[in-house]
Amino acid sequence: MIVWSIVLFFYSCNIWIDEKIVLVPEIKKVSIWSGSIIEKYDFEKDTSITKYVDNKISFNDKNYIPETLLQLKWEYLIDTKNNQKVRKITLENINKLSENFYNTFWEKLKIISAYRSYNYQKGIKDRGCSDAFCAKAWFSEHQSGLAIDLWEATNEDRFKDDEELKTYFDWMKDNWNKYGFTNTYQKWVEIDWYEVEPWHWRYVWIKLATSLKKQKLTFVEFYYKNNFK
Ligand SMILES: [Zn+2]
Repeated sequence: MIVWSIVLFFYSCNIWIDEKIVLVPEIKKVSIWSGSIIEKYDFEKDTSITKYVDNKISFNDKNYIPETLLQLKWEYLIDTKNNQKVRKITLENINKLSENFYNTFWEKLKIISAYRSYNYQKGIKDRGCSDAFCAKAWFSEHQSGLAIDLWEATNEDRFKDDEELKTYFDWMKDNWNKYGFTNTYQKWVEIDWYEVEPWHWRYVWIKLATSLKKQKLTFVEFYYKNNFK
C-alpha cells in the first residue's frame, strides 16, 4: 500500500511537472519541466532549432544561411523544384515522416518550398505577395532551413474542400509532432499576422512539437506566452 502510494505520488507529480513552465527572463530562454528534465528553448539565436520570427521579429543576421543545408532527396519525397534544401535535422525527420506517409497513403510527400534565402524571399515580395501570405525578407521561417510548404500554397479553403488534401492534413495534424514538426499558422491573422496556412510546417524538435499539440498551442502563442518582453 505504501509502495503504491509512493508510485502514485510520483506519477501525479510528473503530470503536474510536465505542465509547469519556468521562465528565465534574464537570458530570455524558456525552461520547461518535462518529467524530471528541464528543457531549454532558445528563441533568439539564428542557429537555434526554436529560433522565433514573425512580422516584427527577424533573424539577427540579415544574411543568415544555415550551415548544414542539404538537398531534399529521398525515395519517398517529391521536390517540385528539384534543387531545394533544408537543414540536416529537418531533412532527417522529413525522410522518416515521408516514409510513414508513403506507407499510409502510397503517395510521395510533395514539397513545394523549403529553405529560402533573404534574396529569394525578397524576390517573392517584389513580385507582389501580400504580407498576410508572405513574410518580409529577413522575417521568414523559411530562412531558418526548418520550414517547408507542402502540396500547394493557395488558401485554407483548398485544404477543406479537397478530399485528398483534407485527409493528408488531418493525418499530419495527428502524426507530425512525432517527427518534431508543427503547423505554424493554423489559427488566424489576429493571432499570428498571417492567414491560415495548412501547407506550412516547421521543425521545432519532437518534445516541443508534442507539447504544443497537447496544449493546443501554436508556436507563435507558445512564444508570447512564455517569453518575457
Ligand atoms: Zn511556408
